[in-house]
Parts: sequence; C-alpha cells; structure tokens
Amino acid sequence: NAKQQGRNQRSHYVPLMKQSTQYKYAVSTDLRKALASDQFRLFYQPIIDLKTQNVHKAEALIRWYHPVQGIISPADFIPVAEATGAIIEIGNWVFTEAVKQVESWRETIASDFQISINKSPIQFKSEDVHLSNWFDYLAQHGLSGEAIVVEMTEGLLMDSGPVVASKLFAMSDAGMQIALDDFGTGYSSLSYIKKYDVDYLKIDQAFVSNLTAESDDSAICESVIAMAHKLGIKVIAEGIETKEQLELLTQWGCDYGQGYYFCKPIPADQFEQKYAGLKADQDY
Ligand code: C2E
Ligand code: MG
Ligand code: MG
Ligand code: MG
Repeated sequence: NAKQQGRNQRSHYVPLMKQSTQYKYAVSTDLRKALASDQFRLFYQPIIDLKTQNVHKAEALIRWYHPVQGIISPADFIPVAEATGAIIEIGNWVFTEAVKQVESWRETIASDFQISINKSPIQFKSEDVHLSNWFDYLAQHGLSGEAIVVEMTEGLLMDSGPVVASKLFAMSDAGMQIALDDFGTGYSSLSYIKKYDVDYLKIDQAFVSNLTAESDDSAICESVIAMAHKLGIKVIAEGIETKEQLELLTQWGCDYGQGYYFCKPIPADQFEQKYAGLKADQDY
C-alpha cells in the first residue's frame, strides 16, 4: 500500500541524502543560525552506580530542534559541525548549559552530582578553546572542576600533540574528570591512558549489546573491567538493554551502567522529576 511504499522510500532516501553534499551544505547553513535561534537542547541519560543504585551522574547528549526537519540526532550534524568549525561554539554552549544544570541538580538531586559532556577532538585541537574561560565559568557558578566529566574518544590520545596534552593536563589540574568514550572501538593504548590520568573507561555498547555468558564479548568486558581496576580506573558500561547484560556486568564488578534498560536520554525537566528526592531503592 501507499503508506508502506512511502516508508520504504523514506528509509532509502534519508541515508543517501545525509551523505550528500547538498545535505551537508544545507546543514552547515542552518547550523550557523541554530545557536542564535536557541534550537539546541541537552538531553540527559542517567549513569547508575551499580553497587548502590544511586544516580549521581548523567551524560548530556545534544539534540537539534530543527524548525523544518524536526529533531536531528547528533550523529547527523556533529560531523558537519566539526567540518565547518561550528563545533567550537556549539561545544562552548554545551559546556555552559551543563554547568547551569549541574549547579541546579547539586541542589535538587545530590550534592556530588556530575554531568558528563562529549568533547570533539576538534575542540581539543583548536587554539580557540580557552579552557580558562571554562574554569572561570565554573567558579562563577560556585562549582569546582569535579562537577564536569569530559568524555573524549581514544583516537584523540593517539595523535595528540602538545595542544591536546596541555588541555588534558589543565582539565585534570582543575579537578575535572576524564572519561574515555567508546572504549574498545579505536586504538587503545594503555600507556596513554596512564599518562593522561583517565578516570573512567566507557565500554562501548558494541561489546555490551550481544553480551551473553558464553560470548567473546563477555571475555572482553570482564578483562577490560579487571584491567581498568588494576589501573585505578572506574568502568561505565554503555548501552545496557537487558537484565542479563546488567547481571553479567555487575558480577564482573563493573562500577556504573548506562542504557535503555534503565532510561533513555530525556529532557532536563523529566530527568529532574524522575531522580530528584528518590530513595535508593527507587533510583531507576
Ligand atoms: P556517545 O557519547 O557514545 O553516546 C551514547 C549514545 O548511545 C547516545 O546516542 C545514546 O542515546 C545512545 N544510547 C544510550 N543507551 C543506549 C542503549 O541502551 N542502546 C542503544 N542502542 N543506544 C543507547 P546519541 O544521543 O544519538 O549520541 C550519539 C553520539 O553523538 C554520542 O555518542 C556522541 O559521540 C555524540 N554527541 C552527542 N552529544 C554531543 C555533544 O554535545 N558534543 C559532541 N561533540 N558530540 C556529541
Ligand atoms: Mg559519550
Ligand atoms: Mg583525574
Ligand atoms: Mg559512547
């Protein structure tokens, strides 16, 4: 029928469109207006402490409320923002939003609440990102660095020059914590992990999604957790969708979990409704 046809057409059409030069051009033009017109929002996904069930952490994930196309996922516009340089301004916006939010949730949810933000390699490599502005902004909000965790990917550590290194050290000095996102999908070098004082490894959801007691992925998850703990690093498992995955990861001593099994990324007001003033046994 027509509806089905339309659906088939769309599912074929959209991915092609998103790779096209026209799409990227249209997005880059719109991106320039998006910040000024307040079209971005941060969604938050809880990060659950698997020992206490507390929710004292959340990851901020950006969404673009495009006036014509509706909600655009970061996977579809972050690469364009990186290519055009718009990521610098967007990244600064993400940071200031997250700071305001964590200030509020330290009042309403937990005094040690932390928000993780995703930081693009382009931001790390750019001379235009002045971390001192970030530190000043935190101080203006009465917060120390620990309120913010910066998530970055493994690739960054491998080809990091002096600009990246100095930023990582400055963040650590300011008390910010560092999480290595999508761990296991890039080039993992243990020496870099040690050198840069990484606080959290986030096991990529690719290893979690097919987790069963017998799978190869279970050997990977179990040994990553053991290795991280020997290095004094906490582990966050991403993409937990089933009880079985949660039970296996808990059994291996994984510290934190994140995934649809607990909660999808949700707007800030919903997050607060769900997690403010909860008892431990009701946390998710
Ligand atoms: P990420 O940082 O690895 O974030 C995890 C992604 O997995 C999120 O997708 C989240 O919604 C999704 N996810 C969480 N739990 C589950 C689950 O149980 N199952 C499945 N299938 N997926 C789950 P999202 O929000 O679409 O973000 C995609 C990527 O876009 C992020 O991956 C991150 O690399 C990037 N991104 C998001 N927000 C920002 C931002 O503010 N700045 C930058 N530079 N990148 C961002
Ligand atoms: Mg992340
Ligand atoms: Mg540290
Ligand atoms: Mg990830």
